[in-house]
Amino acid sequence: MLYRDYIEKLLQLEDVIVTNIECSGRQMHIHLRMQQRLHHCPKCGAVTSKVHDYRTQLVRDVSISGYDTILHLRKRRHVCPKCGKRFDEQIDFLPRYRQFTNRVNLQIFEQLKKCRSIKDIATDNNMSPPTVAKIINEIDFKTRKLPEVLAIDEFRGNAEGERFQCILADPKNHKVVEILPNRRHEMIRHYLGKFSNKRDVRFVVMDMTGGYRKLMKELFPWATIIVDKYHYVRQITFALERIRVEEQKRLSDQWRKYFKRSKYILLKDTRKLTMDDRIQLDNILRISEPLRKAYELKQEFELVKASRDREEASRRLSRWIMRAQKSGLPEFIKVSFTYQNWSREILNSFEYPYTNGYIEGCNNRIKVLKRVSFGMPRFARFRRRIMHIMLN
Ligand SMILES: [Zn+2]
Repeated sequence: MLYRDYIEKLLQLEDVIVTNIECSGRQMHIHLRMQQRLHHCPKCGAVTSKVHDYRTQLVRDVSISGYDTILHLRKRRHVCPKCGKRFDEQIDFLPRYRQFTNRVNLQIFEQLKKCRSIKDIATDNNMSPPTVAKIINEIDFKTRKLPEVLAIDEFRGNAEGERFQCILADPKNHKVVEILPNRRHEMIRHYLGKFSNKRDVRFVVMDMTGGYRKLMKELFPWATIIVDKYHYVRQITFALERIRVEEQKRLSDQWRKYFKRSKYILLKDTRKLTMDDRIQLDNILRISEPLRKAYELKQEFELVKASRDREEASRRLSRWIMRAQKSGLPEFIKVSFTYQNWSREILNSFEYPYTNGYIEGCNNRIKVLKRVSFGMPRFARFRRRIMHIMLN
């Protein structure tokens, strides 16, 4: 096979004729033109292949065996024999006003799905950051229909003077519905209010912070609201941990040595404790009455979590709330009031399998993206990148 034919094949571009190839340094220059074909005049529709003149345009293509590839495309300008209109020949792999092929576009599009900074990707591709950014600016990420299960959360994005942004997702189909520039209720109400299929939303998943419950009840009065399981379980972990820190501070040096690894031991699944762990746990619980009570409440909540159905969970949760309220531990009394206030939504989590796990995953990737990009001050770009990264 002729080298020229070989390159022609490698290029995988339709209907091109390679006329010359030059390599210099790390660059490969490929001279080519398109197969001549008939064109419709954009003004009067007459068919012609009559050429007015030629112009050479430099176009970047994806690299071939480590060479940066530059196409020297000899473009024809046609002239309409009927009306005299001059127009460029159409080239399928190269949209108008662009200096790189569709393949380059696709390659960068894929790279943008990773949590990498635009600057990094631009450097890798020897392009300017605005050119790279433009590639996702062309995509419309709008969601047309609300999902059956809607999850709502917020994250600290610090974009355009707003500390918190709101994220809406479809946890069932693993899709981001929208990222809103702030978490204010007017904003959320306005966005969700626009959809004509609001009736399709049957479940709303949220955590207990953010104050979204009232708003969601107003927007979707027919929907079942579910509190994210990990979120309410975490309240107990946090309460226990705060008491541990307090106790460790309060106790004299003599006792403090018992607290080595105490965080780990107190939070570990009891069934997985080693003999040594158990001895240490006993010591900690013996010297601290508040920790003993707190630990018992944590253990009892394990029972709530293990409930087989809503009824069982309901009974166990009520009992847990009563015990916590009598415990004399302010941290747990606070949790018990929260649980009481949210008991219906907590119990719903025993009946339906939806959580905010997917949104948590999004939030983690947002954190990574923010870190590698040294912040994301511009909201529109930030939103696009998140929507794009979460596409796969
Ligand atoms: Zn014409």
